[in-house]
Amino acid sequence: MTYLPSGDRYDAMTYRRAGRSGVRLPAVSLGLWHNFGHERPIERMAAICRRAFDLGVTHFDLANNYGPPPGSAEENFGRIMARDLKPYRDEMIVSTKAGYLMWPGPYGEWGSRKYLISSLDQSLKRMGLDYVDVFYHHRPDPDTPLEESMQALDYAVRSGRALYVAISNYSSAQTAEAAKILHDLGTPLLLHQPSYSMMNRWIERDSLLDTLAGAGAGCIAYSPLQQGLLTDRYLDGVPADSRVATGGFLKESALDEQTMRVVRELNLIAKERGQTLAQLALAWALRDERMTSLIIGASSVGQLEDNIGALANLALSAAELDAIDGALTN
Ligand code: NDP
Repeated sequence: MTYLPSGDRYDAMTYRRAGRSGVRLPAVSLGLWHNFGHERPIERMAAICRRAFDLGVTHFDLANNYGPPPGSAEENFGRIMARDLKPYRDEMIVSTKAGYLMWPGPYGEWGSRKYLISSLDQSLKRMGLDYVDVFYHHRPDPDTPLEESMQALDYAVRSGRALYVAISNYSSAQTAEAAKILHDLGTPLLLHQPSYSMMNRWIERDSLLDTLAGAGAGCIAYSPLQQGLLTDRYLDGVPADSRVATGGFLKESALDEQTMRVVRELNLIAKERGQTLAQLALAWALRDERMTSLIIGASSVGQLEDNIGALANLALSAAELDAIDGALTN
């Protein structure tokens, strides 16, 4: 059946501007790292993407290596685009990345111009798109001169393959350097994509948001739910269909007694606010207005809806923030 998006899809979503750019992103974006590989039913993936779009999630985050196997998330997204979302391409921000291993030999990973442009061409083919909105360098490369990687991003834009460029997993100092090079090339840095959650606060210690504000770039954090740890998913054991049980990146060793004590305490704070733990974790990660968006993963439509529900109550009192810090340091 032909997909017809909801007519009120822009009414409830919150959009935040990415730095000093013209682009506004939904405060919650959908990531396709897990849950979109060939081992999952395409109908479930399509339902998640369609529901996201219906709820105002205009931004879909991919990378060359998402799957498994690597490349399959882009292929599946391409199928969903072709069948359901293609008419709405101009209402969507589609991002992809290159940096991690994709093919054998010296040109299959890291940050050379050779790798980045070849990989982007492959990504476009897999997704059946003429261009991506945002092209990322996925991780800093210790061996390739930063100028070369940034020139490749600039070329991606000038050659019509991408509209904007971004970086991921760069330190604050590396970010400042990359932003300067890109500025001088005339292709400003749009976004930085770091990991960030209540349990992973390195960007605060590295003053990344200050660096990005100085560069006029936005911040879009990944794994704000700590891959599912900051939800009710593991409160009563390990569900058979969970990321931990199905061999994802989250390992059972992460669910140690001390961590689960913290999770339970945070869950009580969420309950007092009338929120789920996932919603509290997202509200917390959005508490600084300079955080443009959070990229969540969802293995079901229900999870997606739960997460977007966070936007109904983002305000956190000083007492609640203290209680959260207290729970995290207990
Ligand atoms: P999250 O921290 O949002 O974890 C998502 C997982 O948490 C889901 O797969 C699900 O686990 C569980 N979950 C989500 N919502 C709920 C809910 N409401 N209730 C209960 N459980 C829930 O993010 P991800 O780690 O998936 O990363 C998100 C995106 O960030 C990726 O898809 C990717 O686009 C990007 N990313 C970027 C990286 C980079 O290097 N730039 C690295 C990693 C991610 P389950 O599957 O068990 O149901």
